[in-house]
Amino acid sequence: MTTAAAARTDLWTLRGLVFCGACSAAMDADVRPGTLTRVYHCAAGCCPGGTVASVLELMVLTDARRHAPELIEGVPEQCHPLVFADLYRAIVVHAEHRGVDIMPRG
Ligand SMILES: [Zn+2]
Repeated sequence: MTTAAAARTDLWTLRGLVFCGACSAAMDADVRPGTLTRVYHCAAGCCPGGTVASVLELMVLTDARRHAPELIEGVPEQCHPLVFADLYRAIVVHAEHRGVDIMPRG
């Protein structure tokens, strides 16, 4: 693992914004045991193994680029959490790959 990759693992751009679609609990940022795979998972266990963080983060980044390019283009990745917190009220993950709801503010 390179230093850059190690730094990236600390970058949870959706920390605090992700909620479980089944029980509405905030999802924890975690690393899948025995792996380097970052996941968001429900503490109540609605989604065993959790949702892969990089995939979820890319979905939200793509949404932000489409709807608010002036807020995200050229912004350093370490600032993305601030932009996402401004743009979104919640990212709701439905278990068993039944989809993700990206809930904008306002
Ligand atoms: Zn849950």
